[in-house]
Amino acid sequence: MFAIPTTTTSGYLLRLERGGSVLDEIAAFCRDRGVGAAWLTGLGAVEKVELGYYDLDARCYQRTRLDGSHELISLVGNVAQVDGAPFVHAHAALGDRDCRLRAGHLFAATVAATVELQLQPLTGAAVDRRLDPATGLKLLDLAPLDSRP
Ligand code: ZN
Repeated sequence: MFAIPTTTTSGYLLRLERGGSVLDEIAAFCRDRGVGAAWLTGLGAVEKVELGYYDLDARCYQRTRLDGSHELISLVGNVAQVDGAPFVHAHAALGDRDCRLRAGHLFAATVAATVELQLQPLTGAAVDRRLDPATGLKLLDLAPLDSRP
């Protein structure tokens, strides 16, 4: 991975190398630099993709693997802590060779050509994820707005 600090946002411009796991590389970058919470956006080309759709009634993900490489049209996500380690929650929109779009929760993707990212660490302490009984998902553990000073 290649990374430089950005001068306009106090974040990072990242370039992931071919063959790397997109989610693992981002999590490792945050772990190594002590980034407790961040927002990210990116684009590039990926392969070995697994997307998901969360079925709220069934409280489970329907997973779909995509064959071949795809344009990573848009990657958007955030980083928070799960069990004391960075966890990347990302959604991706992907284009195939016929420019058809597939999109969903990103479970896995390997860098095919490159992935270029902006990672913006958020100010303040690390943000945790906590299991939400209503949805069955680990949601961002944020205080209600009216409880803040
Ligand atoms: Zn998701």
